[in-house]
Amino acid sequence: MTTTRDTRAHLAPVLVAGRARPAPGAPVHNPARHGEIVGEHALATESDVDDAVRAAHAAFGRWARLGPHERARLLRGAADELGGLTAELAMLLTREQGKVLWESRVDVGGAAYILGYYAGLAGELDGDRILREDERVTVHVGRRPMGVTGVIVPWNSPVYLCFLGIAPALLAGNTVVVKPSEFAPLALGEVLATLARRLPEGVVNVVPGTGAEAGDALVRHPLVRKVFFTGSTGTGRQVLAGAAGNLKNVSLELGGNDPALVLESARVTDTLVRELVRGVYGNTGQVCFNVKRIYVHRSRYDDFTDRYRAAADEIVVGDGLDPRSTMGPLNNRDQFDKVTGLIDRTRAAGATVHELGRKLDAGSFGDGYFLLPHVVTDLDPNAELVTDEQFGPVVPILPFDDEDDAVDMANATEFGLGASVWSEDRDHALDVARRIQSGSVFLNVHRVGASAVDMPFGGFKGSGIGRGHGIAALEACTEPQTIADWRDVSGLPGPGPAGDAR
Ligand code: NDP
Repeated sequence: MTTTRDTRAHLAPVLVAGRARPAPGAPVHNPARHGEIVGEHALATESDVDDAVRAAHAAFGRWARLGPHERARLLRGAADELGGLTAELAMLLTREQGKVLWESRVDVGGAAYILGYYAGLAGELDGDRILREDERVTVHVGRRPMGVTGVIVPWNSPVYLCFLGIAPALLAGNTVVVKPSEFAPLALGEVLATLARRLPEGVVNVVPGTGAEAGDALVRHPLVRKVFFTGSTGTGRQVLAGAAGNLKNVSLELGGNDPALVLESARVTDTLVRELVRGVYGNTGQVCFNVKRIYVHRSRYDDFTDRYRAAADEIVVGDGLDPRSTMGPLNNRDQFDKVTGLIDRTRAAGATVHELGRKLDAGSFGDGYFLLPHVVTDLDPNAELVTDEQFGPVVPILPFDDEDDAVDMANATEFGLGASVWSEDRDHALDVARRIQSGSVFLNVHRVGASAVDMPFGGFKGSGIGRGHGIAALEACTEPQTIADWRDVSGLPGPGPAGDAR
């Protein structure tokens, strides 16, 4: 196979205190064409990470003292500039990540949108609340930034997910060091370089490279006070262990295995079917809160399954840059092998595997990590495809007779990120939703956009720790502080002027 290189050099360098630093690089391949190198990213070493963290640490005091409204003004200015880059960087993102162009526009456009949204929350950080005030004491309660925040990003929606971490952190007065994914560092690197230029030196720093070296060094660094990690549950465990050294505050946004429950009270309409198809195959199945298993009441099962297969059969798989494609390739070799392995083992275990959709270009299909949409029926409810996160374009559809059993099956995995309940009876659906152990439950919808940026988002169980989005994110990147201003200490307990009773 011949390898071609992009004539324009797309680079994701180490960025420390506003300066790009030459570092040995690794290629970034186009998942739609194995032989095409889209650009290169630096392989940050432990020493690069140390420099980046020290630059962020040095910038912290001044950035924190600017106050939320001045920081919001600077973030809005950066958002204006980033908005103008969306169209061009979306093409770059499709070439490194694989997703179809409109999905890349949403991803890259998230930078400006999320910065603007958080800039609008500056008032939430204004001043302190007076908890108590009397003749003896005034008690102020406020929120303070934590310091250097390490933000570790996955490859599936690199820009959007990075900004969900850094925008609240920056508004709250923290400085950041970002570790992008090796598989999609280029568009994010350009967005972050633009943001860094608009903010005081050292407020935004970037350390592209491997998780094993750059990510691990960031998680363990003693000057990092907060880690915001988005990625798989397995890596989340390592991050939590690594952060234990100096007891960092950690937010973990991890994997999901979202169930969709189509109740007896649902009507199988074109809209319901179309929404579920979108919820399964968006970003080629590589969204943390995509639908990953569908449970359908037996009275609706055959009708639903037939119509679902017909709708999935309309998907056109091809290069994300081609406007005729409705689904791009998987992002990388490991993901491709994982999903195809799951499908093969499920078939070998006796399940019925339906391969659907259409290849845009059959001749070049094998040149990328392309996979047609799949549906699996007649499988064991405890099959690997049901209990594990597939993160790809394949979904199991299982019947149920008793709604309580469906809720039990929904709750029977170690994940708890999202879920959906489908019913014409909204009050009943709400009751069922409240019994599902997941951070978000959607009624009659389940796809990107159903969780908006102001809705608290995160997981139960192995799907994470903490909540992002909106006010919850501001709380997650600040420490509450109590200031007690005592004017009269007579009557306080304790042994006297020499010491404290504790
Ligand atoms: P990974 O966990 O493999 O990687 C995420 C990031 O962590 C990458 O930047 C990776 O670096 C880095 N990393 C790897 N090892 C370490 C380590 N020891 N210490 C610190 N950092 C490390 O996830 P993927 O990138 O494969 O993303 C897919 C997963 O993310 C899925 O499970 C998905 O569900 C989940 N996800 C969760 C979301 C949520 O909001 N809950 C949103 C989106 C995705 P490297 O560059 O080497 O890969």
